[in-house]
Amino acid sequence: MERTTAILDIPAATFLPGLIRRAAEIEAPVQVLDRGTRVQTHYGLLDVFEDGERIQVELSSKDSVNLLYLRDTLDWHLGLEGLKHCITWARMRAGANPANMVLGHCESVTAVSPSFIRVRVRGDYSRFLDGGLHFRLLIAAKGSDWPYSDETGGTVWPSGVEAWHRPAYTIRHICPHGLWMEFDIFRHEGGRVNDWAATLQEGEEVALTGPGGTGLTEAPWIGLVGDETAMPAIIRMIEGAPLGTQGVATIVVPSAADVQPVSCPEGIQLTWAFRDQGASVMDVFRAMQVPEGPRYVYVAAEKSEAALAREHAKALGLKRGESHALAYWAAGEE
Ligand SMILES: Cc1cc2nc3c(=O)[nH]c(=O)nc-3n(C[C@H](O)[C@H](O)[C@H](O)COP(=O)(O)OP(=O)(O)OC[C@H]3O[C@@H](n4cnc5c(N)ncnc54)[C@H](O)[C@@H]3O)c2cc1C
Repeated sequence: MERTTAILDIPAATFLPGLIRRAAEIEAPVQVLDRGTRVQTHYGLLDVFEDGERIQVELSSKDSVNLLYLRDTLDWHLGLEGLKHCITWARMRAGANPANMVLGHCESVTAVSPSFIRVRVRGDYSRFLDGGLHFRLLIAAKGSDWPYSDETGGTVWPSGVEAWHRPAYTIRHICPHGLWMEFDIFRHEGGRVNDWAATLQEGEEVALTGPGGTGLTEAPWIGLVGDETAMPAIIRMIEGAPLGTQGVATIVVPSAADVQPVSCPEGIQLTWAFRDQGASVMDVFRAMQVPEGPRYVYVAAEKSEAALAREHAKALGLKRGESHALAYWAAGEE
């Protein structure tokens, strides 16, 4: 178990109601303790104790990576509440890379099809073997220093966090020992990652943080629909589905030339749909036959399509936990 603490120079009454509201939004259970309040998040426990006019917050997670995410979650909440200036973190060892960051190097950059580039990185990715399928690339101006931890365990971003592009990507393949991994980049107009990959040299350092996001799903029936950005996630979900899983999956890509080989289990029917033939994620989702009984539907696409997909999932009677409609990118937003 990894732990850290922070002091908040405000009374509990100023802090707790907002925290409890936010916990409800992220579906994190709240428990009243003898001396305080406990919020049980995905990353670990936040225990809040009243200490006169101040509050002590104790953070505990299974490892240092989750502890950093838990700390970032509390920071995010304080930022939204305008309370960030009230916090003082306990001091820790400074100077190391952030606990959730892995610094590896580029082994190859290959064009896999007209619209996709595959990057293979080598390093210690063992912790990516379990848990979330995703990570964030860390891209800054060439020659910039990598982020590091300050004496409170927080991340220092050289030139400020806004100077960093930190898009989410999906692990497409990973070595069984975590010694390398690959990710597929969809090439699109104006993409900074595409520009970065175009000049990436063999041996160049590549930094990323993670793992994060959802893992594999275990429902007996799955319905998956996504665009180019969701292709790696859908393929991982299909290839990692437990034996006997039934379902359908459709991936929308620019044209037939972007189809990739997939080892699809017997019970899952994978189809590809092509934009040059007028295909869209929502048309595919609207045509999907979703059975009754235990099921899981996943849709990932552009933000406005994800919003429509959420409405359609509701209209289909899919309940919380039975579906996720996720925005993997947002048109016109960086
Ligand atoms: C959990 C998760 C996993 C993801 N996994 C992958 C993955 O494995 N492979 C992958 O390619 N993407 C993936 N994405 C999507 C990726 O993070 C975004 O597309 C991101 O914006 C890419 O950054 P960029 O530098 O290419 O574009 P940016 O520099 O961020 O954006 C530049 C412009 O391009 C537009 N843009 C961004 N994405 C697209 C797009 N797909 N099509 C058209 N225009 C676009 C933006 O609106 C903006 O106007 C994932 C996203 C999430 C949330």
